[in-house]
Amino acid sequence: MASSSYSNSPCAACKFLRRKCLPGCIFSPYFPPEEPQKFANVHKIFGASNVSKLLNEILPHQREDAVNSLAYEAEARLKDPVYGCVGAISVLQRQVIRLQKELDATNANLMRFTGNEVTSLPVFPGEGDIANPVYGRRMDHNYGFSLPYASPWNNNPSGDGPEEGGDGSM
Ligand SMILES: [Zn+2]
Repeated sequence: MASSSYSNSPCAACKFLRRKCLPGCIFSPYFPPEEPQKFANVHKIFGASNVSKLLNEILPHQREDAVNSLAYEAEARLKDPVYGCVGAISVLQRQVIRLQKELDATNANLMRFTGNEVTSLPVFPGEGDIANPVYGRRMDHNYGFSLPYASPWNNNPSGDGPEEGGDGSM
């Protein structure tokens, strides 16, 4: 009576695991057959049974986000077996610190230029470095965390060179 017209195209997970894709398959909505690599990556890093367990533990509306997150993490881990996506996060955090310093320096220059004519910009004596009234603010504020290791994602550890193409390692 019920027509099973689409039953002959298993999801990427069931196809990979060579099993029958049953109607209630937990993987089926998130691992379409058109994206076989997505499941292959996730399975290699996390294992199919762990993913299945995780998906069953969370609410259905959270599952797509969870799968996308797992896929992202798995891909990053395959790309960088040591640091995974933490490497990418670390690089971005260092970039934020570098840009924050650049912004502070630019703001300081701006204050110096405008300060010659309009001396109404406030300087915060309590917050800043007294010996350096131009900058007025802490330049070496520690943003976020800094990893105690050198990530392979990062090719500019000190932040001194604004642009550095390729890897500068000899
Ligand atoms: Zn399936």
